[in-house]
Amino acid sequence: MAEEIFQNETIKQILAHYRKIWAIGHAQSVLGWDMEVNMPKMGITERSTAQGELSVLAHSFMLEPKFVELVEKAAGEELNDYERGVVRVLQREIRIAKAFPPEFVRELSEVRSKATMAWAEAKEKDDFKKFEPWLDKIIELAKKAADYLGYEEYPYDALLDLYEEGLRTRDLEPIFEKLEKELKPILDRILEEGKVPREHPLEKEEYDVESMKKVNLKVLELLGYPLGTRGRLDVSPHPFTTEFGIHDVRITTRYEGFDFRRTLLAVVHEFGHALYELQVDERFMFSPIAGGVSLGIHESQSRFWENIIGRSREFAGLIYPILKENLPFMSKYTEDDIYNYFNIVRPDFIRVEADEVTYNLHILLRYKLEKLMVNEEVKAKDLPELWNDEIERLLGIRPKNYKEGILQDIHWAHGTVGYFPTYSLGTLLATQIRSYILKDIPDFYEKVANGEFAPIREWLREKVHKYGSMYPPKELLERSFGESINPEYFIEYIKEKYLG
Ligand code: MG
Repeated sequence: MAEEIFQNETIKQILAHYRKIWAIGHAQSVLGWDMEVNMPKMGITERSTAQGELSVLAHSFMLEPKFVELVEKAAGEELNDYERGVVRVLQREIRIAKAFPPEFVRELSEVRSKATMAWAEAKEKDDFKKFEPWLDKIIELAKKAADYLGYEEYPYDALLDLYEEGLRTRDLEPIFEKLEKELKPILDRILEEGKVPREHPLEKEEYDVESMKKVNLKVLELLGYPLGTRGRLDVSPHPFTTEFGIHDVRITTRYEGFDFRRTLLAVVHEFGHALYELQVDERFMFSPIAGGVSLGIHESQSRFWENIIGRSREFAGLIYPILKENLPFMSKYTEDDIYNYFNIVRPDFIRVEADEVTYNLHILLRYKLEKLMVNEEVKAKDLPELWNDEIERLLGIRPKNYKEGILQDIHWAHGTVGYFPTYSLGTLLATQIRSYILKDIPDFYEKVANGEFAPIREWLREKVHKYGSMYPPKELLERSFGESINPEYFIEYIKEKYLG
């Protein structure tokens, strides 16, 4: 029998009540996963209604006066670190649940679904005007949300905190300033020197979907994903990871029929997300501290596997035989081709297809615009021009239409403002983790070359995964690594890798 980590009587009562909220979340994950993976299109109305009703139910369980009282009572008692984690997570969830009046929640959910439909049509027809009034509405609601949540310095801080506990503009400002100052000259030098490829013939090679599925499954097996026992690989329009619990963490990818690195690196990326959830301390099951702590920490795990491992020369060598066995066109290419193909650097318009060097500049642009939207008086009609000017300044290219400009991402249409910066935090943190792991496992890259991933998974479990949400993100980093997010590591990594 595992050691009992929750000892306090009040905490035990809290956890008994919380099980209902957990069960609703579990059901919602299954419904959400099914919607993306299996559901026929027309199921959408009933599914979103079911999801909405379940959210209302979970919300009412969370705010039940007896439950809120118990959480407050526990906060004043002597607790261990696990129990303190439970109280912290619940106090935060209760605060957020209480902040928004029901009419605001209803309005937000209505605007979200209508704005998303308008965005999809606007993007398809490349007509920003169709989305413009909805974007104005989203900006207005984001500002309102910030006011309801409260903030010390900037309204934007209230929104950042929703996605990354404790994150403030004042944390991000020096990070993005540094990235802006350093990345642009690095990118210019890479392009000038011309040693890093800007394109590769493998981008055009068409693959057979069934063969590619085999490749993906073999790679997942190599990485150590417990296919069939605790995980699955399915297909969805946008790759994602979902956890139903510690022992059922599923991932998806998509097959476009060409440019196989997209599906393969998506699988490696999602594996990183999944491994985090799979390696949370099992004793946290059913409690509020089971599950990854924040989007930024989560993305650091996916980016670690995707960029640090997946885009390494050693990994290219490791998977080469699998590729050669399953993809006939591979006979024309070498291990070095795989490496070069995975590490093309090319200023381009689409964020999700961006390389390691330009990716953070795409986020920088969104961060700047979000700050303007929430902190200042900016109207939707001005945003496309601002977007294009900024991308031209950062990458030297100017979008010719809205699809490759402001209409490319779904986030704002979803009402998600303040989320983008977590992508950069994760990408930066992945390179920090690389430095730390190299100190503890000096033959890290040799292990990658040999497909010896167990010690790497174990290291990540000990440093990050096992803690689930018991410590807030900043504290977790301090405890495990003795420092918070520091862009220096990323800049050094990029210089070393791409400028030699
Ligand atoms: Mg991700």
